[in-house]
Amino acid sequence: MPPELPEVETFVRGLAPAVGRTIASADVLDTRLAVTAEDIAGARIAAILRRGKYIRIELEDGRKLIVHLRMSGRLRFDCDECERDYVRMVLHLDDGTAVYFVDPRRLGTADVCEDGDDETLGVEPLGPQFTKAALRELAGRSRAPIKSFLLDQRKVAGIGNIYAAEALWQARIDPRRRACELSNVEVDRLHRAIVGVLGEAVSQLGTTLGSSVSDYRPTAAEGAMYQNHLAVYGREGEPCERCGDPIERVIQAGRSTCFCPKCQR
Ligand SMILES: [Zn+2]
Repeated sequence: MPPELPEVETFVRGLAPAVGRTIASADVLDTRLAVTAEDIAGARIAAILRRGKYIRIELEDGRKLIVHLRMSGRLRFDCDECERDYVRMVLHLDDGTAVYFVDPRRLGTADVCEDGDDETLGVEPLGPQFTKAALRELAGRSRAPIKSFLLDQRKVAGIGNIYAAEALWQARIDPRRRACELSNVEVDRLHRAIVGVLGEAVSQLGTTLGSSVSDYRPTAAEGAMYQNHLAVYGREGEPCERCGDPIERVIQAGRSTCFCPKCQR
């Protein structure tokens, strides 16, 4: 599964030691990337931030290196032997360390922008602006099914298929309901569930669902742990841990959603 907010946040936190360092040189090994070694060599890294599912490396000269991991990307200090063939870019830092952009499916992007602020991105669900009132306001204006609403990066940034399903289960809301038809009490429950699920997933370094080279791993050495907490995602046919009824799967806008038809209403 593609990295969502908790996985991207895990990479960003892991990259903290790169802040303040200078990119001594870069190897851009995949010409499909929109960045060249000349673009970034010599630049000093002022900050590394996450916005939605994007990694924003702010350079001291005001430019930003924006990386989107898409399906299978990872950006970190280490690179496992089995990942070597999938390295698309290496940033060699002035302290001798290196940051690897590994991306087996090669769908990730890297761009240098003068202004990295993406005006179309919605509110940060772990940020101070994501209040109950803000979610009520956003949901109230959308006739989309609440699951599709949560995946819409223009509304709330960073949530994907896994954490949308988990938050809806925790909030006991049927994923097919229209966003604007949820009561205030339900939206408040959903707000609490989103913040809770994402916060817990960040603390567990995200979710790893398989062991292929394309599967997310927070570092080459360690796995994530949130997969041990999934209540519905990938559990079709298994009993709901709240009511015991079988988890079902529906397809909405081409995306599958697992949910409990008994306790999600
Ligand atoms: Zn249930």
